[in-house]
Amino acid sequence: MTEEILKVEHLNKFYGKRQVLFDINFDLKKGEVLTLLGPSGSGKSTLLETLNGLEDYQGGSIYFHGKKINPTPKEWQLLRQKIGMVFQSYDLFPNLTVMENILLAPVKVQKRNEDEVKKEALDLLKRVELDQYVDAYPRELSGGQKQRIAIVRALAMHPEVMLFDEVTASLDPEMVRGVLKIIQALSDKDHMTMIIVTHEMNFAAKIADEVLFLENGKIVEDTPGEEFFANPKTDRARAFLESMD
Ligand code: ADP
Ligand code: MG
Repeated sequence: MTEEILKVEHLNKFYGKRQVLFDINFDLKKGEVLTLLGPSGSGKSTLLETLNGLEDYQGGSIYFHGKKINPTPKEWQLLRQKIGMVFQSYDLFPNLTVMENILLAPVKVQKRNEDEVKKEALDLLKRVELDQYVDAYPRELSGGQKQRIAIVRALAMHPEVMLFDEVTASLDPEMVRGVLKIIQALSDKDHMTMIIVTHEMNFAAKIADEVLFLENGKIVEDTPGEEFFANPKTDRARAFLESMD
């Protein structure tokens, strides 16, 4: 866990005149799992979106493998292939089958060989126990199944980092475990580097190497996972954890 993949320095972000991220600093090392916690509206989604080039920022720098990102569309498009993201709402294309959803970016954007990507997609679908759904359309799947497909679709791009933004928040309770199990396996087996926003505190406690606790767009606490859940440094984080019980 030494190689630094992402580094964020003095990042500020405004929506119009309103500042929503204030002087954000952290780094992410290869294989590390960073968990972003904080109340609703604290800026967690916005931070993930800036890392992925979906939102601009108005100060500070983002480095990928030590190289400063120039905030240009071209550079973001390249970076987005290295940083996969899965959102709370299932964003599968409704008019494409499961396989077509997965193939689209690797074949059209990355120009990879379709047969090879297909083979890989099938392996990934087996892994999430959905290989029988290759030809199904999103509307034929449950929410949990759609999220597992969304994860597979992101992984098919061979990302170096995965960002997960409350991917179980819209799911029925019985669907949650299957999705979290996949994320846990990505960490345990593949040593995938990840940033996770979640409301599932037991899961966060198990998976987080490091916790960033945000409030009102500021990092209130940056603490190793084990320590954060046992004994947070700030009263604010302690109150948050108690409210989540
Ligand atoms: P979280 O994910 O922690 O709930 P968000 O990043 O969604 O927080 O929101 C942080 C702040 O930015 C909130 O005050 C929210 O209202 C505001 N915000 C989020 N998205 C937008 C947007 N597209 N335009 C303007 N304000 C936004
Ligand atoms: Mg959010």
